[in-house]
Amino acid sequence: MAARIAVIGGGWYGCHVATSLMALGFEVKLFEQHGRLLHEASGNNQFRLHLGFHYARHHGTRIQSRDGFSRFMERYSGLSREVEENIYAVPREDSLIDWQTYKLIMTSTGLNYREVSATAGGLKNMDGVMMVDERVLLVERARNYFKTLLGDSLHLKTRVQKIVDHGKHVEVDGEIFDFLVEATWGHHKRLPINLFYEPTILLYYEAGVNLPAITLVDGPLCSIYPTEDPNIYTLSSVPHTPLGTCQTPQEARSLRDAVNVDVVRGKVDSMEMQITRYLPEFRDTYRFIGPQLSIKTKPVGKFDDRSCGVYRENRIFKVMSGKIDTIFVASDRILNFIQSFSNNQVEDDFSSLKQKTLNLKV
Ligand SMILES: Cc1cc2nc3c(=O)[nH]c(=O)nc-3n(C[C@H](O)[C@H](O)[C@H](O)COP(=O)(O)OP(=O)(O)OC[C@H]3O[C@@H](n4cnc5c(N)ncnc54)[C@H](O)[C@@H]3O)c2cc1C
Repeated sequence: MAARIAVIGGGWYGCHVATSLMALGFEVKLFEQHGRLLHEASGNNQFRLHLGFHYARHHGTRIQSRDGFSRFMERYSGLSREVEENIYAVPREDSLIDWQTYKLIMTSTGLNYREVSATAGGLKNMDGVMMVDERVLLVERARNYFKTLLGDSLHLKTRVQKIVDHGKHVEVDGEIFDFLVEATWGHHKRLPINLFYEPTILLYYEAGVNLPAITLVDGPLCSIYPTEDPNIYTLSSVPHTPLGTCQTPQEARSLRDAVNVDVVRGKVDSMEMQITRYLPEFRDTYRFIGPQLSIKTKPVGKFDDRSCGVYRENRIFKVMSGKIDTIFVASDRILNFIQSFSNNQVEDDFSSLKQKTLNLKV
């Protein structure tokens, strides 16, 4: 009989892990507390399908993103779209890294880019500018795709309260499973690493269609990125996007939910002032339409580590999410853990992963 697996969390991680396990023949139940998938961080972020260019300071994150991008395109290419002009730029005075070093790091990571004029996209005060192939995630499409694929395995509006580890099985709100995957980004049970919760604010802007994506690196800088809607963009800022540093998810949610008009107005002023230093035409081109509030779970450290890890406690697998395209690290590690329980049936299922997941292509 196939192993029964419970997955808590209907974000990108829970959806990907659950559907990957289902494709292998496992009996899966996914529990999501909200009435729709991708409702929390997975539906409230900058929607960038990373390639690694964002992470000059962390090798592990760059490698996971570079490899995750290819796997994402193989499996979920229909859930992202191209960005015609996708610019990464190193400002002359305010970056923590110089242009030559930045290029060297990206080249040695095996990432392709095209060097362009230092004034591309209307930028000024740049040390160097490149075009890259990062894409935009299509959230609404992803919601529908995973909802269809999960079918009866999906249990929306179901908040998991109690987990009991019985050694040979795990009890989830009174129901028995062989394994449990916790994909809540540390919102149900704390992850066994040194971390904090960061409530965040991004700003949505309306503007013409197909304006360039612009990302300034590396350090306390900012970026403007398209969304799935062709004339809506997000503005993000390393110093102004965080709303605070919290030790618990409850504290982070309170801070996020307390954001009022005055806070938003203050953020609009400081974020617009910041981007205008590099993109003087910003205020003439983009019109603010509203805030996006969310919560990040981050490891403590200064290296900008956004890699994915999975921690095993007997039959419970706890996911520390990285970026969205690093979901494959989570599914690979979980399958390895399941295999390590050395059940013959499970081993057979694992070895046919590649064949079966090919059928999931969109
Ligand atoms: C401002 C911001 C910008 C970002 N930009 C990018 C970007 O451009 N590109 C990128 O790749 N990544 C980006 N990220 C990171 C990205 O959002 C995360 O990597 C990703 O969303 C994590 O997915 P997840 O499934 O682990 O978590 P989530 O999407 O948070 O999903 C966890 C789910 O668990 C559910 N849940 C929690 N507790 C329970 C319970 N007890 N019972 C049932 N359900 C429960 C929640 O409702 C939620 O739906 C950004 C994040 C933020 C905050």
